[in-house]
Amino acid sequence: MDCIFCQIVEGKIPAKKVFETDTIVAFPDINPSAETHILIVPKKHIAGMHDLALEHGPQLAEVYQVAKQLVSEYNLSDKQYRVVVNGGKAQHVPHLHFHLLGGNIKKLV
Ligand code: 5GP
Ligand code: ZN
Repeated sequence: MDCIFCQIVEGKIPAKKVFETDTIVAFPDINPSAETHILIVPKKHIAGMHDLALEHGPQLAEVYQVAKQLVSEYNLSDKQYRVVVNGGKAQHVPHLHFHLLGGNIKKLV
């Protein structure tokens, strides 16, 4: 499997992990679009939003719990922040991920 994010999950490609559980990892985007730009990535390979089903509900709730925790850690609640999911031609890495953008947001990813 040559999925970049699966390789980050497996430690084959380095990333500075800022959060990790058995099911989720988060690390800074290599090409940040904002002062704070963290990728929140479910470890299990799901290609994108179009592959989500109701059974993924608990995993999605967990993603937002992580986002909430990172908002607090990076002191974003007094600044602007956004959680963005790209899909279709706007998505470049075909492994579901959530962009947490905060502070000075230069562009939507
Ligand atoms: P997408 O366009 O798929 O929503 O976003 C993919 C994001 O992954 C981009 O913002 C890109 O900068 C980031 N990215 C791509 N390859 C790597 C990598 O090897 N390491 C990290 N940390 N980010 C990556
Ligand atoms: Zn993957």
